[in-house]
Amino acid sequence: MQAIELWAVTKTYPGTAQPAVASLSLAVSQGALVTLLGPSGSGKTTVLRLIAGFERADAGEILLTDRRVSGPGAWVAPERRGVGMVFQDYALFPHLTVARNVGFGYRGPDQAERIREVLELVALTGYETRYPHELSGGQQQRVALARALARRPVVVLLDEPFSNLDAALRTHMRLELRRILKAAGATALLVSHDQADALAISDRIVVLKGGTIQQVGSPQEIYQRPANRFVATFVGQSNLLAGVVDNEGAAVITDLGVFACRHDHAYRPGERVYACIRPDSLEMVPELPASDDPVQGTILSLTYTGQALDAVVEVRTVDGSQQLLVRLPSAADVREGQVVALRVAPEAVALVGGG
Ligand code: ADP
Ligand code: MG
Repeated sequence: MQAIELWAVTKTYPGTAQPAVASLSLAVSQGALVTLLGPSGSGKTTVLRLIAGFERADAGEILLTDRRVSGPGAWVAPERRGVGMVFQDYALFPHLTVARNVGFGYRGPDQAERIREVLELVALTGYETRYPHELSGGQQQRVALARALARRPVVVLLDEPFSNLDAALRTHMRLELRRILKAAGATALLVSHDQADALAISDRIVVLKGGTIQQVGSPQEIYQRPANRFVATFVGQSNLLAGVVDNEGAAVITDLGVFACRHDHAYRPGERVYACIRPDSLEMVPELPASDDPVQGTILSLTYTGQALDAVVEVRTVDGSQQLLVRLPSAADVREGQVVALRVAPEAVALVGGG
């Protein structure tokens, strides 16, 4: 069963020209952890607010576990939708203890027992009598999550759950959040503008831009086979080389040479495309056998990032030059101005729609 379904949902805010969400259709299956990934202003929060019932759609239908909660002639109030929401700023009550904050999410006869259960789930047993200001950012987030889970919601919606956490805590909370949501058996739709968070945590990713879906897929599909230029550059970094699919459909002809690629039935021979090459798929080689037809270039700049050394390499073409980003091991022995040869593994070249 689908836990969340959106059918051609459109929302334009009063006084704005462009719809925030434009005829968007989307399904989240029960128990899945799905991330809406997109830049600021792409409509992510609006989608969550429409599902929760804090905004009304102008058109389309929304179903939660097969129940129509929004659509022509249908409207279910937010508190009756069975949705647990974790807001970007957590929205805890500052004057209530942890236990009472969590209890606010569930008023059933077994409230005390349920508070104990969800606090254990989020690893906050022993924090019952603390106040929000006595907690770290990560702990506050756990309280907000416990409050959302307390009433056993049909779906949990989380808006930018990592945006208020520093880098080290963020990496830890990704794993924790996934563990907690899976342990609770929850269906979760979370929103992020950060591709690293989305790739790390999600079963599936929905890439949004301008209120429309660009691609839906597993993290591997989104990264390895981006559907278009936007996805290729927004999710991870890419070198995009304009080219044409060759007659066999198994290579792409570009100004920098002919690159073998994974056969992709989405593109016809002769079609204009981009060859998408990730910076870590380019290998720098000191010498190549003559038959290997290397791409040669000059290192323009080197940036040390800790995990890697990022080189910008300028490669001459027939009528100009093109810069490529190459990710080298951080201990690579290279210098600016050096002439180098580059090699690409065939399975590392993905085709991306061009025109
Ligand atoms: P995101 O969460 O991806 O940053 P939002 O859903 O918040 O995007 O916003 C999508 C678009 O709708 C943006 O252009 C934003 O300016 C606009 N918008 C959001 N909320 C309102 C509002 N209450 N009134 C008018 N415009 C809004
Ligand atoms: Mg937002």
